[in-house]
Amino acid sequence: MAEDYSEKSFWLGNSGSYSENPPLTTDLKCDVAVVGGGFAGIATAYYLKKAQPSLKVAVLEGFVIGYGASGRNAGFAMTTFGLMMSITKMLFGPEKTRQSHRYMERAVDLVGELVAEHKLECDYERPGFLRIATTPAYSKRIKDEVDLVKELGLEGVNWIEADEVKKRVHSPLYLGAWWEPRCALVNPAKLAREMKRVAVKYGAEVYERTPVIEIKRSPQAFTIKTPKGTVTADKIALATNAYSLAIPELKAMQQPVWTYIVLTEPLSKAQLDEMGWQGREGIEDYRNLVHYYRLTPDNRLLMGGRDVIVKYGANMDNDMNPKVFAQLERDIVDFYPCLKGLKITHRWGGPVSVPLDMVPALGYLADKRAVYSLGCMGHGVSLTHLNGEVMTDLLLERKSEWTECFPVNRKVFNWPPEPIRFVGEKAILGYLHAEDAWLERKGLGPAKK
Ligand SMILES: Cc1cc2nc3c(=O)[nH]c(=O)nc-3n(C[C@H](O)[C@H](O)[C@H](O)COP(=O)(O)OP(=O)(O)OC[C@H]3O[C@@H](n4cnc5c(N)ncnc54)[C@H](O)[C@@H]3O)c2cc1C
Repeated sequence: MAEDYSEKSFWLGNSGSYSENPPLTTDLKCDVAVVGGGFAGIATAYYLKKAQPSLKVAVLEGFVIGYGASGRNAGFAMTTFGLMMSITKMLFGPEKTRQSHRYMERAVDLVGELVAEHKLECDYERPGFLRIATTPAYSKRIKDEVDLVKELGLEGVNWIEADEVKKRVHSPLYLGAWWEPRCALVNPAKLAREMKRVAVKYGAEVYERTPVIEIKRSPQAFTIKTPKGTVTADKIALATNAYSLAIPELKAMQQPVWTYIVLTEPLSKAQLDEMGWQGREGIEDYRNLVHYYRLTPDNRLLMGGRDVIVKYGANMDNDMNPKVFAQLERDIVDFYPCLKGLKITHRWGGPVSVPLDMVPALGYLADKRAVYSLGCMGHGVSLTHLNGEVMTDLLLERKSEWTECFPVNRKVFNWPPEPIRFVGEKAILGYLHAEDAWLERKGLGPAKK
């Protein structure tokens, strides 16, 4: 039976009716085949057709557009790259860190431009982003990151003190914040579907419920097998992110890690008045295993993060996690005591893509006929749209400011095979948990439970 994608997130099930494109049922020849119909795949198809309308471009999506992380995320279009700017600087140096932040700033602006140009109906708003300190140790960590932004000659981010934060959003836990007005919020399922509408308008062919079973590469072409038809393509774009585990050429370049979300019933006017939050900013804290939260257009509180899950082997069926859901539900009341008793109406999760060195990657794969995008690290809403534009330029062998920028065509180190991979992931996760607990030991914060 075909999977009911509407169960996969509140957004996928509650964003109006959706008309699926039919699956591929014949053999097809095309110039470029795009595997994966998330933000990255659809954006690539759109930019290819925009750049060269004569190209025949086919998107092959295993379920429906936005079925993966693109239809399930919290909808933050943000500049975060990898885990933390200081870690990126430690691993890759100041110049690449600067480039990656500029890449992300461009990505955030690009989403806004796409929304305006194509009148994408995706509940786009640009309320800005608060990265909140919930313990003195996190205040120091965030202030250091704000200082690093300035040290790198970047702008657009400031530290604001507790009084200022509390004027915006009332929580007993808030001690100060990174404030970044550039960032936006969207309904991600609507954004993915609207980008599909535009890609199709420009002439891209989109085949849903068309899983790619096998990809064969020869000097002449790529032969892509799906259940009811084979695609022969001159070039290929692999936009499978966390699902890349099933693609042999990408398998070791990233690992899927699951993150979870709970959603409340709509808040009452009295609850909203008590919380403030008139500016409706997107909020994260600065644990290693962050919380991310926001209001939806109908004033529900979406609370996500707090822990992540890694699994042994290639099983991708880990979208529900009662333990993390229960933790998130408790955390809502820690952040906002006035929300005690509020009902949770939706719970869901999805996989994000994690490279060994914890920063995104895209570029050519083996030769200039194949490109890929993966490693979003849970921050891919904006990133993937710019990746789509960059993958287009790479396939068309055109240079732009962004094709020359880190993280494009960077060297990616493979994860080791099982069981070493799983043991290594558990060890890294254990360290991240322990550090969070340590940073929360003297202050208010969820790790005390
Ligand atoms: C719960 C959650 C919350 C998140 N919150 C945020 C946030 O607020 N802000 C942010 O920036 N990022 C967030 N992210 C990350 C963000 O959603 C992703 O980075 C982004 O959506 C990745 O897009 P993508 O197109 O690369 O991959 P995906 O959206 O995962 O798309 C990949 C697609 O490929 C398809 N596919 C895979 N294999 C095959 C195959 N063999 N044949 C055919 N099709 C295939 C899949 O079905 C899927 O639709 C979150 C992620 C999750 C899971």
